[in-house]
Amino acid sequence: MSDSNDFPAPSSASLPPLDPQTALIHSSYRAPDGFEAFPVGIHHASTVLFPNVAAMRSRDWREKLGYTYGLHGTPTSFVLEARLAEIEGGSYCRVTPSGLAAIAMVNFAFLKSGDDVLLPDNVYGPSKDLGQWLERDFQITARFYDPMIGAGLAELIQPNTRLVWTEAPGSVSMEVPDIPALCRAAHARGVLVAIDNTWAAGLAFKAFDHGVDIVMQAVTKYQSGGSDVLMGAVIVRDQALNEKLELAHMRLGFGVGMDDVYLVLRSLSSMRLRFQAHDTAARKVAAWLKQRPEIVAVLHPASRMPR
Ligand SMILES: *Cc1c(COP(=O)(O)O)cnc(C)c1O
Repeated sequence: MSDSNDFPAPSSASLPPLDPQTALIHSSYRAPDGFEAFPVGIHHASTVLFPNVAAMRSRDWREKLGYTYGLHGTPTSFVLEARLAEIEGGSYCRVTPSGLAAIAMVNFAFLKSGDDVLLPDNVYGPSKDLGQWLERDFQITARFYDPMIGAGLAELIQPNTRLVWTEAPGSVSMEVPDIPALCRAAHARGVLVAIDNTWAAGLAFKAFDHGVDIVMQAVTKYQSGGSDVLMGAVIVRDQALNEKLELAHMRLGFGVGMDDVYLVLRSLSSMRLRFQAHDTAARKVAAWLKQRPEIVAVLHPASRMPR
């Protein structure tokens, strides 16, 4: 029996890469018949209906082919996930209730007791606090490294190191680390590299192209743009990594509200314009500050150079 609630599979793998501005407004995910329009429909759901028991049993919540339970998403969140993945140049995305939830999801997906995680000294503050909590209560060691250490990271990697967090630029102090060198050092020992790519919004830094395995975004920031939504996202290219993230997402219960997803979708199409406007203005201010005799240092990623 044909199952009219089934949706076509996302097909991003077979498409050529889109220009970032195009990816913001078009995604490979196709809404079910009757729902195609410029604005994405808001599909609310917790419990969903199946035509029969066989249809229910044949559904896999990990495939975005049809509803299984609202926690895993609806076509509304599937569209946002497809767009966020395309912006980063990734293949899989899961949205979470906040940026910090996305960080926690990565830690719980890839760390267990006895493991070691490395975080940059300038990592987003609550991420540092979460690392310290893992160390205090979960038998996971969390060590902090100088983000500008580059290839020197190799010396810090222990046999039980599983994950290296990076941030480019680092929160508030704005150092831009050598991500390819950090990735080479980590990968040489089979260690995964995650990045908090929030500051670059997935536009100014293409983390996957520089070797990163896991990209995390605080969608709360540039993607939302309106200071009215909390959301996060984790994006990967690798299917095996995605499976671990899917399980962590399900086990932690990190579903999001579709009204919030809609707000982000509504803002996302203007993200690049807003980002460019911020960038132009911030560079102007940074250049002006740099010339001022009373200014000791300018903490801007493009200005962290000698005066
Ligand atoms: C805001 C922010 C986060 C966390 O996002 P929330 O949605 O507020 O939890 C993580 N990383 C960076 C760099 C941020 O600026």
